Amino acid sequence: MPQRALFTEEHEMFREQVRRFVDKEVVPYHDQWERDGVVSRDLWQAAGEAGLLCCEVPEEYGGPGGDFLHSAIVVEELARAGTTGPAFYLHSDIVAPYLMAYGSEDQKRHWLPEMVSGETILAVGMTEPGAGSDLQGMKTRAERDGNHFVINGQKVFISNGQLADLVVLAAKTDPEAGAKGISLILVEREREGFTRGRNLEKIGYHAQDTSELFFENVRVPITNLLGEENRGFIQLMEQLPQERLLIALRCATTIEAALEWTLAYTRERKAFGRTIFDFQNSRFKLAEVKTRALATRAFTDQCLAAHVRGELDTATASAAKLFTTEQLAWVLDECLQLHGGYGYMREYPIARAWADARMSRIAGGSSEIMKEIISRAL
Ligand SMILES: Cc1cc2nc3c(=O)[nH]c(=O)nc-3n(C[C@H](O)[C@H](O)[C@H](O)COP(=O)(O)OP(=O)(O)OC[C@H]3O[C@@H](n4cnc5c(N)ncnc54)[C@H](O)[C@@H]3O)c2cc1C
Repeated sequence: MPQRALFTEEHEMFREQVRRFVDKEVVPYHDQWERDGVVSRDLWQAAGEAGLLCCEVPEEYGGPGGDFLHSAIVVEELARAGTTGPAFYLHSDIVAPYLMAYGSEDQKRHWLPEMVSGETILAVGMTEPGAGSDLQGMKTRAERDGNHFVINGQKVFISNGQLADLVVLAAKTDPEAGAKGISLILVEREREGFTRGRNLEKIGYHAQDTSELFFENVRVPITNLLGEENRGFIQLMEQLPQERLLIALRCATTIEAALEWTLAYTRERKAFGRTIFDFQNSRFKLAEVKTRALATRAFTDQCLAAHVRGELDTATASAAKLFTTEQLAWVLDECLQLHGGYGYMREYPIARAWADARMSRIAGGSSEIMKEIISRAL
């Protein structure tokens, strides 16, 4: 793959460090976590100690004071190893930014150091059984009662749902006002009336916990409001380009990894007296994969550069998510095919990646919603 001009020497050193961490602390345990349906809490603490969490949190809040390229490196190196269990990107680059952008000074001083160390694990609760793409239809309610909010409702498909110590919850504070009546509220694990359902069984991402969350008369002080009351929907929308870019970066790297896995396999495996790679069909398929890998990387790096400059717009980020997730699906299916029956066995990374990838065309905004957003900007 071509050299990537975006990253400095210091970033590349960090990449080496992350790679070593993934090889030592993630890869050997990932099978067990897939069986457990969740990664260990120890991993989070180790990642915190190694400076892999919340890369962009400034030093004054206990963070490493890095930039978004450091975050991108963590996402890419986990993807390169085919390890989808640790939801560090969700914690560090999707939820933590809400606190950084909208948190009060007290909230930041209280929470950011614990998030950096991995002591406090984060989740974001938007989706409900009756409202996913159409978030305005959410029913979870937070009513003011003196100095408290009283929360009632239910969320579903929440990543880090079992592990999370702190949930950024989207709830209606003015139910008559539609999108303009949604607020973000911090809910701690130990609040009375806050319970989590079972760890949901998924077709992929087996090592990542995904859960329902239930709120029954949960009282939280109004100081747990994140940002302005009734501005939650806009706050969510403001952070979405970064989430979509992260998904795109993960896809670009997984495509490159799938090419490597498949080259290695097809060069080794023999049929009809030659390697699978030697069949013209295999070489042509791999040539197409390589071409898509290059195009995907070029597009995502262009978006990454724009994001670092603060110029990545919602429609382009949505286009990146749409394009890369659809490319990934095509690439993994073709690469799996080249593995034959072994491609269907979970012990091969291509099989896991294939099942894991299905999620990316749905979560973080479905492909159809991406098309809606892109078409609105035409
Ligand atoms: C593994 C996993 C992890 C997740 N993690 C989280 C999390 O941490 N926090 C969280 O809040 N949510 C999370 N989600 C939820 C995810 O964001 C939603 O599943 C997603 O937004 C789609 O919502 P839905 O499932 O309700 O589908 P629906 O909104 O019911 O959509 C069903 C189908 O209709 C299509 N559709 C909907 N509206 C339109 C339209 N206007 N035009 C055309 N087609 C349309 C959709 O594209 C889809 O194909 C996760 C989901 C998964 C699978």
